[in-house]
Amino acid sequence: MVSENAEDYLACIYDLTRAEGAVKTTAIAAKLDLTPASVTEMTQKLAAEGYLNYEKYRGVTLTAKGRKVAERIKRRHRLLERFLVDIVGMKKEQSHDEAMKLEHNVSDGTVERLSQIMNYPTVCPDGDPIPPSETPAEHDPDLSIPLDEMGDGDEGKITHLSCEDSAKIKRLISMGFVPGRRVRLEEKVPMGGPVLVQMEELKVALSRDYASKVMVRKCP
Ligand SMILES: [Zn+2]
Repeated sequence: MVSENAEDYLACIYDLTRAEGAVKTTAIAAKLDLTPASVTEMTQKLAAEGYLNYEKYRGVTLTAKGRKVAERIKRRHRLLERFLVDIVGMKKEQSHDEAMKLEHNVSDGTVERLSQIMNYPTVCPDGDPIPPSETPAEHDPDLSIPLDEMGDGDEGKITHLSCEDSAKIKRLISMGFVPGRRVRLEEKVPMGGPVLVQMEELKVALSRDYASKVMVRKCP
Protein backbone atom coordinates (compact mmCIF):
# COMPACT_ATOMS: atom_id res chain seq x y z
CA MET A 1 0.00 0.00 0.00
CA VAL A 2 1.43 3.34 -1.08
CA SER A 3 0.46 6.65 0.55
CA GLU A 4 -1.08 9.46 -1.51
CA ASN A 5 2.12 11.46 -1.15
CA ALA A 6 4.16 8.57 -2.45
CA GLU A 7 1.77 8.15 -5.39
CA ASP A 8 2.13 11.83 -6.32
CA TYR A 9 5.86 11.56 -5.89
CA LEU A 10 6.21 8.51 -8.15
CA ALA A 11 3.90 10.12 -10.74
CA CYS A 12 6.07 13.25 -10.72
CA ILE A 13 9.23 11.16 -11.29
CA TYR A 14 7.38 9.33 -14.09
CA ASP A 15 6.74 12.66 -15.84
CA LEU A 16 10.25 13.99 -15.32
CA THR A 17 12.05 10.79 -16.35
CA ARG A 18 9.99 10.53 -19.56
CA ALA A 19 11.84 13.61 -20.80
CA GLU A 20 15.21 13.17 -19.18
CA GLY A 21 15.88 9.53 -18.28
CA ALA A 22 17.19 9.93 -14.74
CA VAL A 23 16.13 12.92 -12.66
CA LYS A 24 17.97 14.87 -9.97
CA THR A 25 16.34 15.23 -6.57
CA THR A 26 16.63 19.03 -6.90
CA ALA A 27 14.37 18.88 -9.99
CA ILE A 28 11.80 16.85 -8.06
CA ALA A 29 11.93 19.33 -5.18
CA ALA A 30 11.32 22.21 -7.61
CA LYS A 31 8.44 20.47 -9.39
CA LEU A 32 6.64 19.41 -6.20
CA ASP A 33 7.58 22.56 -4.27
CA LEU A 34 9.21 20.57 -1.46
CA THR A 35 12.42 21.11 0.46
CA PRO A 36 15.46 19.16 -0.81
CA ALA A 37 15.69 17.49 2.61
CA SER A 38 12.17 16.06 2.46
CA VAL A 39 12.73 14.89 -1.13
CA THR A 40 15.92 13.09 -0.10
CA GLU A 41 14.06 11.44 2.75
CA MET A 42 11.17 10.31 0.50
CA THR A 43 13.63 9.10 -2.15
CA GLN A 44 15.51 6.94 0.34
CA LYS A 45 12.31 5.53 1.77
CA LEU A 46 10.85 4.62 -1.63
CA ALA A 47 14.19 3.24 -2.85
CA ALA A 48 14.33 1.00 0.24
CA GLU A 49 10.81 -0.22 -0.54
CA GLY A 50 11.81 -1.06 -4.13
CA TYR A 51 9.87 1.68 -5.98
CA LEU A 52 12.87 3.52 -7.32
CA ASN A 53 16.60 3.41 -7.97
CA TYR A 54 18.78 6.18 -6.61
CA GLU A 55 22.36 6.72 -7.74
CA LYS A 56 23.97 9.75 -6.22
CA TYR A 57 25.44 11.29 -9.39
CA ARG A 58 23.00 9.96 -11.96
CA GLY A 59 19.78 10.64 -10.09
CA VAL A 60 16.47 8.86 -9.61
CA THR A 61 14.72 6.36 -11.91
CA LEU A 62 11.63 4.24 -11.37
CA THR A 63 11.81 0.47 -10.89
CA ALA A 64 9.22 -1.71 -12.63
CA LYS A 65 7.25 -1.71 -9.37
CA GLY A 66 7.39 2.09 -9.10
CA ARG A 67 6.43 2.52 -12.76
CA LYS A 68 3.35 0.40 -12.19
CA VAL A 69 2.14 2.67 -9.37
CA ALA A 70 2.93 5.80 -11.40
CA GLU A 71 1.18 4.57 -14.54
CA ARG A 72 -1.91 3.64 -12.55
CA ILE A 73 -2.13 7.13 -11.05
CA LYS A 74 -1.41 8.84 -14.40
CA ARG A 75 -4.13 6.76 -16.02
CA ARG A 76 -6.63 7.81 -13.36
CA HIS A 77 -5.59 11.44 -13.49
CA ARG A 78 -5.82 11.76 -17.26
CA LEU A 79 -9.07 9.81 -17.58
CA LEU A 80 -10.62 11.95 -14.85
CA GLU A 81 -9.49 15.10 -16.68
CA ARG A 82 -11.13 13.80 -19.85
CA PHE A 83 -14.30 13.01 -17.94
CA LEU A 84 -14.40 16.42 -16.23
CA VAL A 85 -13.82 18.30 -19.49
CA ASP A 86 -15.80 16.17 -21.97
CA ILE A 87 -18.73 14.97 -19.87
CA VAL A 88 -19.01 17.33 -16.89
CA GLY A 89 -18.19 20.38 -19.01
CA MET A 90 -15.46 21.78 -16.76
CA LYS A 91 -12.84 24.15 -18.12
CA LYS A 92 -9.55 22.46 -18.97
CA GLU A 93 -7.63 24.77 -16.60
CA GLN A 94 -9.77 23.68 -13.63
CA SER A 95 -9.80 19.99 -14.47
CA HIS A 96 -6.22 19.33 -13.41
CA ASP A 97 -6.70 20.38 -9.77
CA GLU A 98 -10.04 18.60 -9.52
CA ALA A 99 -8.51 15.40 -10.96
CA MET A 100 -5.67 15.67 -8.42
CA LYS A 101 -8.25 15.49 -5.63
CA LEU A 102 -10.24 12.63 -7.14
CA GLU A 103 -7.46 10.44 -8.49
CA HIS A 104 -6.59 8.83 -5.15
CA ASN A 105 -10.14 8.08 -4.12
CA VAL A 106 -11.87 6.48 -7.08
CA SER A 107 -12.07 2.69 -7.37
CA ASP A 108 -10.37 0.89 -10.28
CA GLY A 109 -13.79 -0.34 -11.41
CA THR A 110 -15.15 3.22 -11.69
CA VAL A 111 -12.06 4.38 -13.59
CA GLU A 112 -12.46 1.56 -16.12
CA ARG A 113 -16.16 2.29 -16.46
CA LEU A 114 -15.45 5.95 -17.17
CA SER A 115 -12.98 4.86 -19.81
CA GLN A 116 -15.60 2.58 -21.34
CA ILE A 117 -18.29 5.29 -21.34
CA MET A 118 -15.89 7.66 -23.11
CA ASN A 119 -14.96 5.00 -25.68
CA TYR A 120 -11.47 4.27 -24.35
CA PRO A 121 -9.69 7.60 -24.88
CA THR A 122 -5.91 7.36 -25.28
CA VAL A 123 -4.92 10.96 -24.56
CA CYS A 124 -5.79 13.54 -21.86
CA PRO A 125 -7.24 16.99 -22.75
CA ASP A 126 -3.67 18.26 -23.10
CA GLY A 127 -2.81 15.47 -25.53
CA ASP A 128 -0.62 13.50 -23.10
CA PRO A 129 -0.92 9.72 -23.42
CA ILE A 130 -3.18 7.80 -21.03
CA PRO A 131 -1.30 4.65 -19.93
CA PRO A 132 -3.20 1.44 -20.78
CA SER A 133 -5.23 -0.41 -18.17
CA GLU A 134 -4.00 -3.44 -16.30
CA THR A 135 -7.59 -4.57 -15.85
CA PRO A 136 -9.31 -3.62 -19.09
CA ALA A 137 -13.10 -3.56 -19.11
CA GLU A 138 -14.94 -6.15 -21.11
CA HIS A 139 -14.56 -4.90 -24.66
CA ASP A 140 -14.80 -7.03 -27.76
CA PRO A 141 -15.66 -4.72 -30.62
CA ASP A 142 -16.08 -7.61 -33.06
CA LEU A 143 -19.22 -8.68 -31.22
CA SER A 144 -20.77 -5.21 -31.10
CA ILE A 145 -22.86 -3.67 -33.85
CA PRO A 146 -24.31 -0.17 -34.14
CA LEU A 147 -27.83 0.07 -32.71
CA ASP A 148 -29.30 1.07 -36.08
CA GLU A 149 -28.07 -2.18 -37.62
CA MET A 150 -30.17 -4.34 -35.30
CA GLY A 151 -33.42 -5.73 -36.60
CA ASP A 152 -36.90 -4.81 -35.34
CA GLY A 153 -37.55 -6.59 -32.04
CA ASP A 154 -33.87 -7.37 -31.37
CA GLU A 155 -32.52 -6.93 -27.87
CA GLY A 156 -29.00 -6.18 -26.77
CA LYS A 157 -26.71 -4.64 -24.22
CA ILE A 158 -24.86 -1.37 -24.83
CA THR A 159 -21.10 -2.05 -24.85
CA HIS A 160 -19.77 1.43 -25.62
CA LEU A 161 -20.38 4.67 -27.48
CA SER A 162 -18.38 4.90 -30.67
CA CYS A 163 -18.06 8.65 -30.91
CA GLU A 164 -15.30 11.25 -30.81
CA ASP A 165 -17.67 14.20 -30.37
CA SER A 166 -18.02 14.94 -26.64
CA ALA A 167 -21.23 16.95 -27.14
CA LYS A 168 -22.86 13.90 -28.74
CA ILE A 169 -21.53 11.58 -26.04
CA LYS A 170 -22.99 13.90 -23.38
CA ARG A 171 -26.33 13.97 -25.15
CA LEU A 172 -26.46 10.17 -25.51
CA ILE A 173 -25.59 9.67 -21.84
CA SER A 174 -28.24 12.19 -20.75
CA MET A 175 -30.81 10.23 -22.76
CA GLY A 176 -29.82 7.08 -20.89
CA PHE A 177 -27.58 5.37 -23.44
CA VAL A 178 -25.00 4.20 -20.94
CA PRO A 179 -22.79 1.11 -21.39
CA GLY A 180 -24.19 -1.92 -19.60
CA ARG A 181 -27.85 -0.97 -20.17
CA ARG A 182 -30.24 -3.26 -22.05
CA VAL A 183 -32.05 -1.93 -25.11
CA ARG A 184 -34.74 -3.31 -27.39
CA LEU A 185 -35.11 -1.99 -30.91
CA GLU A 186 -38.83 -1.56 -31.44
CA GLU A 187 -38.87 -0.19 -34.92
CA LYS A 188 -36.77 1.55 -37.51
CA VAL A 189 -38.97 4.19 -39.09
CA PRO A 190 -38.51 3.89 -42.86
CA MET A 191 -36.97 6.49 -45.18
CA GLY A 192 -34.14 7.24 -42.75
CA GLY A 193 -36.54 8.10 -39.94
CA PRO A 194 -35.67 7.66 -36.27
CA VAL A 195 -34.99 4.41 -34.48
CA LEU A 196 -37.55 3.68 -31.76
CA VAL A 197 -35.94 2.11 -28.74
CA GLN A 198 -37.30 0.64 -25.52
CA MET A 199 -34.88 1.05 -22.63
CA GLU A 200 -36.15 -0.19 -19.30
CA GLU A 201 -39.36 1.84 -18.79
CA LEU A 202 -38.28 4.44 -21.29
CA LYS A 203 -39.26 4.73 -24.93
CA VAL A 204 -36.86 6.85 -26.95
CA ALA A 205 -36.83 7.98 -30.57
CA LEU A 206 -33.24 8.28 -31.67
CA SER A 207 -32.02 9.74 -34.96
CA ARG A 208 -30.08 7.38 -37.25
CA ASP A 209 -26.94 9.44 -36.76
CA TYR A 210 -27.06 9.04 -32.98
CA ALA A 211 -28.18 5.42 -33.17
CA SER A 212 -25.14 4.58 -35.31
CA LYS A 213 -22.90 5.66 -32.40
CA VAL A 214 -24.46 3.37 -29.79
CA MET A 215 -22.63 0.04 -29.97
CA VAL A 216 -24.66 -2.94 -28.85
CA ARG A 217 -24.00 -6.63 -28.29
CA LYS A 218 -27.05 -8.59 -29.32
CA CYS A 219 -28.65 -10.85 -26.72
CA PRO A 220 -30.45 -13.98 -27.88
ZN1 LIG B 1 -3.26 17.09 -15.14
